[in-house]
Formats: sequence, structure tokens, C-alpha cells
Amino acid sequence: MTIRAKLEMQRRGTGLVMFAGWFCFMTGMILGFFVHPILTVLCAVGFIVVAAGGIWYFAKIRCPNCHGPLCHALNWPPKGLFRISPRIRFCPFCGVSLDKALEETVGAPSAERNP
Ligand SMILES: [Zn+2]
Repeated sequence: MTIRAKLEMQRRGTGLVMFAGWFCFMTGMILGFFVHPILTVLCAVGFIVVAAGGIWYFAKIRCPNCHGPLCHALNWPPKGLFRISPRIRFCPFCGVSLDKALEETVGAPSAERNP
């Protein structure tokens, strides 16, 4: 598995959670308006899910080599919530290639066990 594959997997998971939260928010708004006002509670649940997904995204998506925060770097050029642009080829903090195998990085769990 490459660094890019791991980051895309994390990004995809976070994107799905945030999309589910957005869907819950919109559903709560529509049902609360047309069916019963108590259903607007779904809006609060959706908002919390989207906020938690955003916080998770900004806090946990890091370079496996140097643990630098990659959240902003991976957002440009935009490829949606699920993919990383192929034009991003290196970590801006340590310069490691995103197509390098995850096991070869300094911060990989196997490297920490066997320095
Ligand atoms: Zn790095």
C-alpha cells in the first residue's frame, strides 16, 4: 500500500461520514418543515456529524513519514471528498513521495518496531 492509497482511504472514509451528516441535516430540515417540527433534531445530529468529520479530517490526516498535517495540502487542486489529485506528488513538509510504499516510511509502525 502506498502513502497515497492510505491517505485516499482516510479521505474517503471521512468524506462518506461528512456526506452522511450533510444528508441527515438536509433530511431533518425537509422533514421538520413538512412533517413535524420535532424532526428538526435530525439537523442537529447531521451538523454534529459534519463538524466531527471535519475536525477528524483536519486533525488526523497526516503524513505517515513526518506526521505533518496534510489536510490543506490535499484539498488543492480539488478532486472532491474522496480522491487526491495526482498532481500532488510529495509531502510539502518532508518531501516524501506519496507513491512510496507505506512500509518504507520513517513513521511506519514496522519501522518503529525495528529501527
Ligand atoms: Zn511528510
